[in-house]
Amino acid sequence: MNLHPSTPNSSNEAHASSSLHDHLDLSIVIPVKDERETIRPLYEKICEVMDSLGEKFEILFIDDGSIDGSFDVMRELFEQDRRVRVFRFHINYGKSPALAAGFEHARGRIVVTIDADLQDDPAEIPRLLEKLGEGYDLVSGWKKNRQDPFSKRLFSRIFNAVVSRASGIHLHDFNCGLKCYRREVLEQVRVYGEMHRFLPVMAKWYGFKIGEVVVTHYPRKSGRSKYGGERIIKGILDFGTVMFFTYYVQSPAHLFGRIGITIGLISFFLFFISIITMVYGWMSMGGIEMAVSLVAALISFQCICLGLMAELLTFFHRREEPSYFINERLEQ
Ligand code: UDP
Ligand code: MG
Repeated sequence: MNLHPSTPNSSNEAHASSSLHDHLDLSIVIPVKDERETIRPLYEKICEVMDSLGEKFEILFIDDGSIDGSFDVMRELFEQDRRVRVFRFHINYGKSPALAAGFEHARGRIVVTIDADLQDDPAEIPRLLEKLGEGYDLVSGWKKNRQDPFSKRLFSRIFNAVVSRASGIHLHDFNCGLKCYRREVLEQVRVYGEMHRFLPVMAKWYGFKIGEVVVTHYPRKSGRSKYGGERIIKGILDFGTVMFFTYYVQSPAHLFGRIGITIGLISFFLFFISIITMVYGWMSMGGIEMAVSLVAALISFQCICLGLMAELLTFFHRREEPSYFINERLEQ
């Protein structure tokens, strides 16, 4: 299988560090929170698929504070197969930190993520890799026929449509657990909080090429979903953060400045109205308008100051980190 794109997609620095890992083709990263029943069948299915591909691989289980005995199953697998590596958190940090730990320790040139609950099918991995071989840096699964409750499907549809539109990335399913990445992507993108849903958006900041493949999805047969309604609020807040980073991280003063100037104009308009109404004695409202105008002027001033403060922070950050990422180089 061709896992090498025809064009180079990464910086020289990334190539230098990836050569350290050239002995391994693939790392499969699996975040686990209380999935005792499905860990072994998932492992067996992955081995079956990967052995048929003939790729050198490792499986990284990240136990995200399981309390149902999942760790014992992972330990058994580690004892019988040294391609298995297990990393355990004693408390539940969440799926993003679990993935981050997996990415940090993965040795493969390519990293595949898959959920531990067998809702995703490991038999889809070869198709994701094939797509990656066509010159993509990140390939995401699309659970076109999603087997989850209606409420979850509905929210997910709205979420995906909004994120796709706002980010300009034409994916149908940002939150699919089944994805594969060239390691250069993961060397740049840092996942934290619950930002795993936005990994493709963050990858796009660096100019990586993102593809999508339709994958089968199964209903959850054991255990229970770790995500309920609270995901909606968190998703909206995280989306705000991601959009801020997408459009304004290079120049935060532009965002705060725009808000400040808009409020400033409103303040000026109200001030003008209040002067007119007071001078001509048309209405007895002039005083209220004047007060609102003064408050708006204060808020406007604060917004502009906030923008300048944020600009100051990014100025010092930029002195340490470049504000660009070179995807390709041609030089002697
Ligand atoms: N997961 C995790 N930590 C958490 C929540 C979930 O490692 O705090 C894992 C979970 O074990 C599964 C994957 O993330 O392997 C997806 O979780 P889940 O199936 O509950 O999400 P859903 O499919 O319902 O969106
Ligand atoms: Mg699931």
